[in-house]
Amino acid sequence: MIDGMEEASGVRLARRPGVADALVLAEGVGRIYGQGDAQVVALVSATCAIHPRDRIALVGRSGSGKSTFLHLMSGLDTPTSGSLTWPTLGSRDSLRPSQISIVFQAPSLLAPLTALENVMIPLLLGGVDEREAQRAAREALELIELGEIADKLPEELSGGQAQRVAIARALAYRPRVLFADEPTGQLDHATAMHLFDVLLAALEATSTALVIATHDPLVAGRMDLVWHMQHGVLEETT
Ligand code: ADP
Ligand code: MG
Repeated sequence: MIDGMEEASGVRLARRPGVADALVLAEGVGRIYGQGDAQVVALVSATCAIHPRDRIALVGRSGSGKSTFLHLMSGLDTPTSGSLTWPTLGSRDSLRPSQISIVFQAPSLLAPLTALENVMIPLLLGGVDEREAQRAAREALELIELGEIADKLPEELSGGQAQRVAIARALAYRPRVLFADEPTGQLDHATAMHLFDVLLAALEATSTALVIATHDPLVAGRMDLVWHMQHGVLEETT
């Protein structure tokens, strides 16, 4: 399939590193929601590859298909057309939580659990033993400069802190790819920029690739690549 892919879109992909070492490889990926008159064409034939250490901003107006595409690339949803593979990560079943993580716009922390316990959840679900999960969760909180609030409940945290806990939760497994869907959308500008600085510093320590859907031109401007989406069409990605 990968050889065929090179043939089919050799021109576009030739300027990027090889497809065989891609973390995520999309060729002609489309997503239509609903049936008949209620059909919504959310994504039209997207082709792209994500590699280690990529820093990619996915920008576009509300409704342009950013979330749809992130959900597909993370394996949360399946395309209705095209091919989506994870050449160096394996099958769709093996992606989450250890290899691919997502941070959503709202932090969605579990209210009765402390920050530390929230960060431990994906590790425990992934079969990591409790002691090791606690160690890795503390490390992730420290990476994101939250060591001191580990024992607080979500209701005791500011919006920026809660979103940083959600990022620590996503990073606890040291994933190969982090997808962030407008993670600063609910924060004021200064808090958003601080969160973004902390996130980039944390990722510096690993080879985790970052793909961030954002409206904020300042956030997009600090990434290495900017991919534009318009009415479900992913424009030239190189
Ligand atoms: P963005 O994240 O850029 O705002 P989305 O991917 O959320 O865009 O949405 C793309 C299009 O798909 C929009 O027209 C939206 O209304 C539609 N859409 C998204 N999710 C669904 C769904 N579950 N069912 C039907 N339509 C949807
Ligand atoms: Mg969205």
